[in-house]
Amino acid sequence: MYVKSLTLKGFKSFASATHLRLEPGITCIVGPNGSGKSNVVDALAWVMGEQGAKSLRGGKMEDVIFAGTAGRAPLGRAEVALTIDNTDGALPIDYTEVTIARTMFRNGGSDYSINGTPCRLLDIQELLSDSGIGREMHVIVGQGQLDTVLRATPEERRGFIEEAAGVLKHRKRKERALRKLETMEANLTRVHDLTGEIR
Ligand code: ATP
Repeated sequence: MYVKSLTLKGFKSFASATHLRLEPGITCIVGPNGSGKSNVVDALAWVMGEQGAKSLRGGKMEDVIFAGTAGRAPLGRAEVALTIDNTDGALPIDYTEVTIARTMFRNGGSDYSINGTPCRLLDIQELLSDSGIGREMHVIVGQGQLDTVLRATPEERRGFIEEAAGVLKHRKRKERALRKLETMEANLTRVHDLTGEIR
C-alpha cells in the first residue's frame, strides 16, 4: 500500500487544481518558505478526516478554503482527493486502487466519498484504521510533535499504542454501543413509568 496521488483544489494556497503523483518509497517536497509544503501535509491529514482546525494550523475549519490573494478572489470550497494503491489488499476493500475525497463548503459541512460513492466520515476512519493510518493521525508527525509524544501522559501514550495496534477502533465502537445502551435504558425506564401511569 502506498499513496499514489494527491489532488488539491481550493485547499489553502492551492487555488487551482494541483495533482501530485507519488511513487513507492520516499518522497521529498522541497520549496522556499511559505510555498505550501506543509499545506500538502495538511491536505493529507484533512482528506483522511482530520477534524481539528488547530491540527491543520488554522483558527477555524473554513481556514482550509483558499482565502484569496491580491490577484485572485477567495473560493467557496476546498477539495482534496487521495489515491492509495491497494494491490496488496492492506485496506479492507475489494479495490486495487482506493480514492478518498473530501469537499468542504464555506457555509460549513464536509462531504466524503470512497471511490466516488458518498460515505460518512466514520466509513473513512474505519477503512483507514485497519491499515495503521488511524483517525488520530499518528502517521503524520508535524514540526515539534516529537516533543508532544515525549511529554504525553501515560493515558495518551496508551492511546498511541492502541491506535498502532488497531485496538482503538474497537474501543470507539464499544463506547458508541454503551452510549446507545444508556439511551435505550433511559427509554425503557420512561416506558415503565408510562405503563405504570396508564394502569
Ligand atoms: P515553511 O518552509 O516556512 O514551513 P511551507 O512551504 O511549509 O513553509 P506552508 O505553511 O505550507 O509553507 O504555506 C504557507 C502559505 O500558505 C502562506 O503563504 C499562507 O498565506 C498560505 N495559506 C494558508 N492558508 C491559506 C488559505 N486558506 N488561502 C490562501 N493561502 C493560504
